[in-house]
Amino acid sequence: MVALNPPFVGSCLCGSVQVRVDALPLLTVVCHCRGCQKFTASAYSLTTMFPRESVSCTGDLIRGGLGAGGKDHYFCQSCLNFIYSQIAGAEDRINLRTSVLDDATYFEPFVEVMTDEKMSWATVPVRHSYARTPASPEELLALMTDYKNR
Ligand SMILES: [Zn+2]
Ligand SMILES: [Zn+2]
Repeated sequence: MVALNPPFVGSCLCGSVQVRVDALPLLTVVCHCRGCQKFTASAYSLTTMFPRESVSCTGDLIRGGLGAGGKDHYFCQSCLNFIYSQIAGAEDRINLRTSVLDDATYFEPFVEVMTDEKMSWATVPVRHSYARTPASPEELLALMTDYKNR
C-alpha cells in the first residue's frame, strides 16, 4: 500500500469544480446498489469517505438524484460529473466519489456493500463484504478503525 499524504486534490471532468482534501480518508467503499449503478452509469460506485470539514470544493454544484431518503447527491453544474454525496445523520462525513481525485488509484476499496444487487460478474478485492450495509453505526466505526490500521 502506497503511503497516502494529504492534501489530496481532484476535479470534475471539465475542471470547473476543484476539490481539495486535508485529511486522511476514513474509509473506502464500493457500493453495488442499483441506484449507484445508475448514478455512475457503471457497475458500482467508488466512495472515499472524509471528515466533512477537511473537504473544500470550488465551482458550481447542483443537487441531483431523487433528493429523497436523506441522501443528497452533488454534481458539477457544467459537466454533470458526480462529485460527492452527503447522508442525513452523517453530516460530519462526506462521501467523495473516488474517481474525482487525481490519485484515485491509491484509494483502493476496503469495503463493498449491497452485493445483493451487484452485477453477477462484478468482483472487487476488498477486506469486508456486505450483502446490504453494516448493521449499526458501531459496526461502521469498527470498519473505520480496521481501515486505519490496515
Ligand atoms: Zn465539470
Ligand atoms: Zn449505492
